Amino acid sequence: MGILLALGVGAVAGLLVPGESPKITFLAVGQGDCTVIQQGDVAILVDVGPKTREGFDSGSRIVLPRLRALGVSNVPLIFITHPDGDHIGGLGAVFRRFSTSQIAISSAFRDHAELKAWLSEAGVPRDQVIWLSGRSRARIGVLDWDIAAPPWMPGQNDNDGSLFIRVSRGASSAILTGDASIAVEETFGKKLGWQGQILKAGHHGSRTSTGIAWISQVNPEWCVISCGLENAYGHPHPSVLEDLTRSEVEILRTDLDGELSFSFADGGFNRTYASSRLGPGIPQAIRKTR
Ligand SMILES: [Zn+2]
Repeated sequence: MGILLALGVGAVAGLLVPGESPKITFLAVGQGDCTVIQQGDVAILVDVGPKTREGFDSGSRIVLPRLRALGVSNVPLIFITHPDGDHIGGLGAVFRRFSTSQIAISSAFRDHAELKAWLSEAGVPRDQVIWLSGRSRARIGVLDWDIAAPPWMPGQNDNDGSLFIRVSRGASSAILTGDASIAVEETFGKKLGWQGQILKAGHHGSRTSTGIAWISQVNPEWCVISCGLENAYGHPHPSVLEDLTRSEVEILRTDLDGELSFSFADGGFNRTYASSRLGPGIPQAIRKTR
């Protein structure tokens, strides 16, 4: 088991203000993912939102303005679950603003051509990339991080190499799995044995993820689905919504509910409400990114 020594965790922990309650915020970035785990003015990101072929860059248009509004002035660490444009697209804009960030990615993608192109376009120096393999754990501030990289080979769907991430404080645990499919949930995810109050739906609520066995194992109170309003993929799929409803999980969606925020507490998460449900002056047309 690897320990995240390479992450400079001590340095990150030193930045966190004791006593400030950490929170997790799922930004409304359209059809993609960006999750902000924040304590005080320091945040760790999991994915950085989409950049589309049409040129919509959620990094500059949504992620940076929202980080500013949330009072974030330091981003020491960014996890990229997998190198697809709806997860890594915003990296250039975010990295230009936070150029000392370390970027953590599954080592399975080390030779991934598109990943190399994204990192080079974003100007990320090689020594700021942390390649994760197997299982890594770290305590950062008051939060416990558990990160697991599934086995993945070139030629497989990128989604199935997505990092599994659990971030916890006491009884509050949130679980994120990028776009990993049901097959990975039921093999790799099962072995992890994780449970959590918050489950982020895999693959934006596609029917290829968030299978019933995974829902039963994690046993969440809330499921957060990050997807674009009226997206062309039809996410989330009705069968996923049905399975969640039948399992008595409350469904929250960034396309309908906007930004979603929870504060970590020892006894379990407290749901908090963003001041602006739909983000800061982001035109409807832009939020409808596909
Ligand atoms: Zn995706």
